[in-house]
Amino acid sequence: MSQIAIDGPAGAGKSTIARRVAAQMGYIYVDTGAMYRAMALFMLREGVELSDEAAVAAASERAEITIRHEGGEQVVVLNGEPVNGLIRTEEVSKAASAVSVYPPVRARLLTLQRRLGEENDVVMDGRDIGTVVLPKAECKIFLTASAAVRAHRRYLELTGRGEEADEAQILKDIEARDAQDSTRAVAPLKQAEDATLVDTSELSIEEVTETILNICRGR
Ligand code: C5P
Repeated sequence: MSQIAIDGPAGAGKSTIARRVAAQMGYIYVDTGAMYRAMALFMLREGVELSDEAAVAAASERAEITIRHEGGEQVVVLNGEPVNGLIRTEEVSKAASAVSVYPPVRARLLTLQRRLGEENDVVMDGRDIGTVVLPKAECKIFLTASAAVRAHRRYLELTGRGEEADEAQILKDIEARDAQDSTRAVAPLKQAEDATLVDTSELSIEEVTETILNICRGR
């Protein structure tokens, strides 16, 4: 099967870009962050203490996470319930970053992610796709942008939806999540040796999509 791996920090534009690349290539789009978010939602609902690794690991055994595709969109299903509409809050973002540190949580989701990559042509995005999940992917991209640009994009997204937003606070949250994701012991956020770095700070969505298609079609 053909595999395109797209990794990078929060707010680099991975999901928007990966979705477009998948549509152009005729592959399915797999958003692995959404799986960690569903796991985090489960922990929040169960009232599990997120700093307690043993408790999180034990509870994760009761979380059945699967995905399905509807009209090209990935729907994440947690114990039979579609949860796409519930996993994009700041609370869930922070909790996802916290629970993704624990190896038993990662191992559980890794099995699902690898199987999806073996059974389908995929564009998969996350933090460790090129390094751990699909190390043999024929095309690997590391998508980045400055923290200030990423915070500004998030600010525009929130205010565009009519929500209140504090850009300085968003920047702080992004930097904290980057630090947590990059410094954890297991599967940290890092560029695979054979990945191509694409900095999206000064590129439009169309330009980034084109750049990646040019890189990956040549493989
Ligand atoms: O990409 P997204 O922001 O939705 O991911 C939420 C969190 O899930 C990240 O901050 C990261 O801690 C975790 N994650 C991960 N490995 C992945 C994808 C996401 O650890 N492959």
